[in-house]
Amino acid sequence: MSVVLVINSGSSSLKYSLIEVERERELASGLIERIGAGGVVSHRVFALTEPGVPAPAVLDERFEEERPVADHDEAFAVMLAQFAEHGPSLDEHPPAAVGHRVVHGGARFFEPTVITPLVEINIEDLSVLAPLHNPANVAGIRAARAAFRDVPHVAVFDTAFHQTLAPAAYTYALDTAIASEHRIRRYGFHGTSHKYVSEAAARFLGRDLADVRQLVLHLGNGASITAIDGGRSAETSMGFTPLEGLVMGTRTGDIDPAVLLHLARRAGMGIDDLDALLNKRSGLQGLAGSNDMRDILAGRATGDEAAALAYDVYVHRLRAYIGAYIAQLGGVDVISFTAGVGENVADIRADALSTLGFLGVRLEAGRNAVRGPGIRRISADDSAVAVLVVPTDEELEIARQTLSVI
Ligand code: ADP
Repeated sequence: MSVVLVINSGSSSLKYSLIEVERERELASGLIERIGAGGVVSHRVFALTEPGVPAPAVLDERFEEERPVADHDEAFAVMLAQFAEHGPSLDEHPPAAVGHRVVHGGARFFEPTVITPLVEINIEDLSVLAPLHNPANVAGIRAARAAFRDVPHVAVFDTAFHQTLAPAAYTYALDTAIASEHRIRRYGFHGTSHKYVSEAAARFLGRDLADVRQLVLHLGNGASITAIDGGRSAETSMGFTPLEGLVMGTRTGDIDPAVLLHLARRAGMGIDDLDALLNKRSGLQGLAGSNDMRDILAGRATGDEAAALAYDVYVHRLRAYIGAYIAQLGGVDVISFTAGVGENVADIRADALSTLGFLGVRLEAGRNAVRGPGIRRISADDSAVAVLVVPTDEELEIARQTLSVI
């Protein structure tokens, strides 16, 4: 039974997940937060089911504690202690490999890659393009390689799935010399999720991936939409960074870049102010004071005008992207919603698609309203386009891709 330890290392957090890949079963997961500033540890163990029976993870026990965690090396020691104390035993379920989520693979990495010292240097080098993410990913890789010396480590890149974009899709209409000197192009993100969801959708429908034109709407705190043609990413809304595209929890998504020039000239805002404005103080947060869609929905229901406008802006942008991407694909067979908002908010799904009746897109309200854990169809039987809710599972996808290269 092949077990993979999946690591998602952020600047002050470490997420881990121990996965039995063939049975698609999560054995345990955990989150260590506030690294370097206190330390909060949560470790979850999932119930074991009969051997040979594929089963979704069922939460068995959750352990939480506060303890100081100075850095990523110590976070790994704490993680190992959690396994030793609460299980499952890593001796009984030894990882065959460690899979690392890496945000930016630049134009260099287009598939899961076994981490050698040279690969590690290249990932670190890409910090120029992802200053918030890649250094944290490298810190996690270094600490993990020290903690798990005898197994291969594999990097799975958020950008990799979008390496199939055509030049027309990834090129910005910017002075070519500047663009190439600074490696400015669309890279796209959330690739692991878009790949997982599009493959799961085709399998669910019994369709050959190569024959379907799909839209995947990953609507979480970060949000992106990808047009996928025959399993290949053809267009995606995040760009040089994860800032471009849809309205997000705290990010603007698309905005006229002249706004930045104006604010720099007229409001005296510096680079760091603008960075914080675009990434942290905008989106739903900027429009209505909360980055959480649940608050927006509650506000809208009680007549809060800011919340209602935030909702409308969110949906308006979604519709524009959906229309544009259908035009790029020349039609669409499957539309899938995923991540926190996509999986949970029936109104957003309905409103995002409500103008597409002329293309034969028809949701069935009852199916759309049902909540449930697994993948499900929400379109009417006579809809020309299958519309699905597909819970994403980036950890499982990273584990699968990790196994595929060792
Ligand atoms: P991330 O992008 O951080 O991985 P998620 O995919 O978990 O985020 O999505 C988080 C967001 O999803 C929350 O901020 C919230 O806006 C939204 N969300 C999660 N659950 C619900 C729910 N039941 N109803 C409405 N919105 C939800």
